[in-house]
This record gives sequence, C-alpha cells and structure tokens, in this order.
Amino acid sequence: MNSVSPRVLSSSLFEGPYYISVAGKLLETSDSFAVMNPATGAEFARAPAATAEQLDEAVAAAKSAFKTWSVLTYDQRQKYLDDYADALEVHREELARLLTLEQGKPLKSGAQPEVDQAISWIRQIAARRIPVEILEDTDSHIVELHHTPLGVVGAITPWNFPVLLALWKVAPALLTGNTMVIKPSPFTPLTTLRFGQIAQSVFPAGVLSVVSGGNELGPQMTAHPDIAKISFTGSTETGKHVIRSAAGTVKRLTLEMGGNDAAIVLPDADWKAAIAQLFWGAIGNSGQWCVGIKRLYIHRSFHSEFVSAFVDYARQQKLGDGLDPSVTVGPVQNKMQFDKVRTFLDDIKANGQKIVLGGEVDESQSGYFIPVTVVDNPPEHSKIVQEEQFGPIVPIIVYDDVDDVIERANDSPFGLGGSVWGRDTQAAVAVANRLETGMVWVNEMHTQGVDIPFGGHKQSGVGTEGGHEGRLLFTNPKTVLIKK
Ligand code: NAD
Repeated sequence: MNSVSPRVLSSSLFEGPYYISVAGKLLETSDSFAVMNPATGAEFARAPAATAEQLDEAVAAAKSAFKTWSVLTYDQRQKYLDDYADALEVHREELARLLTLEQGKPLKSGAQPEVDQAISWIRQIAARRIPVEILEDTDSHIVELHHTPLGVVGAITPWNFPVLLALWKVAPALLTGNTMVIKPSPFTPLTTLRFGQIAQSVFPAGVLSVVSGGNELGPQMTAHPDIAKISFTGSTETGKHVIRSAAGTVKRLTLEMGGNDAAIVLPDADWKAAIAQLFWGAIGNSGQWCVGIKRLYIHRSFHSEFVSAFVDYARQQKLGDGLDPSVTVGPVQNKMQFDKVRTFLDDIKANGQKIVLGGEVDESQSGYFIPVTVVDNPPEHSKIVQEEQFGPIVPIIVYDDVDDVIERANDSPFGLGGSVWGRDTQAAVAVANRLETGMVWVNEMHTQGVDIPFGGHKQSGVGTEGGHEGRLLFTNPKTVLIKK
C-alpha cells in the first residue's frame, strides 16, 4: 500500500481522502466503505477499510514504540501531549465541521464544543501525575508502590461522541506510558482518522495509530495477544462479547456501556427553573447520550403543569441539518439507530400510550430525522421505560411516593447515571445516595471533569474513565520491596 507523509495533508483536513495511520505513516487501503451524512441519508465520503494485516502492523508498531515511550518521564510525555493539543487546535473548526457532517450534531452547540473539550482535556490530563507511593519506611526496609504502564492499549469507540470519547482514552493512556491503537465506529470514522493523522506529526512512530474498518476489527483487537488492555465504549451487548473474547489473553478491561438513567424531580423541586436542563439532559445529542435522561420521574402534584412547560420548551427547538446555525436538534446518527428508535414509536402507538409532542416521522425527508417526542405517563413496564431508547423520545412518568420511585429507578440491569432535583439539597442528596448508579447529579446535569471518575454500575460498565481512578486503570500496581 502507498503511504503519505503526515505533513503533506495538514492543510486539507476537511476534504478526503482519508487514511489510516499506522506506524507513523498514513496508509491507503485497497477497500473502503461509505460514510453517510445523517442529515441527508446520502454517502458523502469513503473511509479506508483496514485489513487484518494492517491492524497487526499497527499493534506491532505500538508494541515496539512502547519500549521507548514507556521510559520517558511524565514531563516528556506531557510535552508531547501539549504539542498534540496545539496541533489539533489549529484545525479545530475543520474538525468540528467534519464531525457534524458524519455524526449529525449541531455544529455550534454540539460538534465545536466536543472538539474543543477534547483538546482541553488533553492539556488538563497531561498535567496529571501518578506518583510513586511509599507504603512503608522502617529501619529495615522501604516498600514502594509504583504504577507501571500496561503496554499496547486498544481503544474501541462508539458513534455518539466519537471525538471526546476517543480522547478520554488517548490522553490518560499515553500520559501513563502506554501506546494505543484506536478503532472508531464504522458509522463515524472520519474525525478520529484526522485526529490520528495529526498525531503522526507529533508523536514518535507507533505511539498512536488509528485504524478504521468494519466491526470485525473489534474482535481481532479484543483477542490480540499483543494488546494488554481494551478500553471500550459502546453497547452492553457488544461489551459482553468484549469480555468473552478478552478472557483468552487476560486483558485488562475498562467498559463504558449502556444506561437507562432516571431523573427524579422531588415534590419540593424548583422544576420551572430546571426545565431547560432536564430537556437538554434528555434530548441533547438527539438523545444519544449514554448518560442522557431516559426516564423522567415527576411528582403527581405538578405533573400536568410540568408536561405543558416541557412541551412548550421543546416546541422552541428546531430539528434539522446540524450545519444550519438555527438548528438545535440534529438527526439520529445512522439508519440502524433510526430504525431502532422507530420501534419505540411503534410500540408506544401500538399500546395506546399518550404522545403529547412529536411521534410522527416526516417520510418525505431523506435524513434520519425523528422529531422530539414526549410520552405522557407510560406504564412502568413499557418498552420506552424499560429499555434504552438512545434517541429523542422522553417518557415523563408520574410517581406519588419517594421510596417507590427510588425502587423503580433502581429496578434496572443498568446503573450508569441519574439525577435528583429538589430544593432541600440534603434530602435530594439522601435520595441520590440510594440510587444504584456510578454517577448521580443533584440539581445539575452532566457536569464532568478530568478529575471526576465516570463509569457505570451493574451492566453499565466495568471500571471508570476520568479521575485518578480512571488513570490508574491504565497501569499495573507494582510493589517494590527494598531491604535497607
Ligand atoms: P456498539 O456496541 O454497537 O459499538 C461500539 C464499538 O464496538 C464500535 O466501534 C463497533 O465497531 C465495535 N464493535 C462491534 N462489535 C464488536 C465486537 N464483537 N467486538 C469488539 N468491538 C465491536 O455501540 P454503539 O451503537 O456505537 O454506541 C451506542 C451505545 O454505546 C449505547 O448503548 C450507549 O449507551 C453506549 N455508550 C456508553 C457510554 C458510556 O460512557 N457508558 C458512552 C457512549 C455510548
């Protein structure tokens, strides 16, 4: 295959062609696959389809680069990461535009903030350290706890926040001395390929490679003998395949998976002030958030008023192509998800549940547009309450009793996030403490940060990303006992 200098293309990031980045080189592939614009439903670019051999080559280069990368100091690796953030910053607008084209999210409120946040996180994480701890220091010996890098990390990412979720993995993995091969979702490979391309002009060859292709590359990575860890974000079903496949080589795993987050609005809540946050908590990214509000529990005492205020707010939003600056809600990302979200609409209608907004897909549109849909008080056992819709449909569910609503919120195989809203903060925190989830927000929504662990309980995940806890998961603890 031909290879192209990473520097030659640095001024034309937005236009194709796109390359996989392997061993410091940009490579062409013999096969390619279509990347669709979800706002038009039409192909707008072709992405390279890496072969199994090219993935092997990327892993071999990462293994070789690990020898020298892992022995650099934190300060040296920080410098590389800072240079990477600088190099990305130059292209921040092109990268965001590309993200909107392939993912669908509105440019101004979705894609640009995602790209900017990813760049900012690289810089912030680069400044973190995992120091050696002295566990014992006696007359006879010293016991030190080191945290050593694992080796080659394989990152497997989804299509909802392709850039941010990839960089959540890249920055801590590289900082702690690992090398990495990323496989983006086949639905949204392009922006990640460009991040990979830019990386080749910053990092030593093999430190960070990006290899796009079909889903079959995933199992190849999870079974690969030279990959020490898989950092996976995606659905719980795929996560189970990852666990099974990784067992053969006893890989370390971090799994960020699905959720069915409940928001509980308590009887004393200042719910009028919270409408916008609750709306965007559910509908942001067209509902395609792992930690999106997927069940909105409202106390009976203000239920009707709440539903009309929520619907009024929703009516002010505009559905359309994310490149249109007036659009606030974009399409669903891909046809598979579009069809899946429609099964929820079909089920809601078939069971005579009350749709108070939306519900009808405009069949004349070729893009994957689902209007914001609000379902009023569907039964607890219904599909829209029990399953992860991952689309712009919100069930507003009535409750009477706080103990009962906590039980309903916890009655799920998922345990990712949740939120509790109430004027009496202590009482709201007491409810939050009873939710069986990895994260819970009280009177705010989706605040995140590089020192805040992010991860799920139950079938929503294993391990965390972010925070010192997440960074530690890119290392092995190593105890060194020294006789004096
Ligand atoms: P998905 O599981 O279909 O795909 C995720 C990634 O896994 C893709 O890169 C895909 O190519 C790859 N893959 C597919 N089959 C594989 C296999 N057998 N082995 C290894 N890799 C394989 O998920 P998706 O549809 O892209 O993303 C949506 C899901 O992700 C939702 O359930 C959402 O809740 C979840 N998610 C979770 C988080 C979190 O942090 N917890 C964040 C974002 C999305």
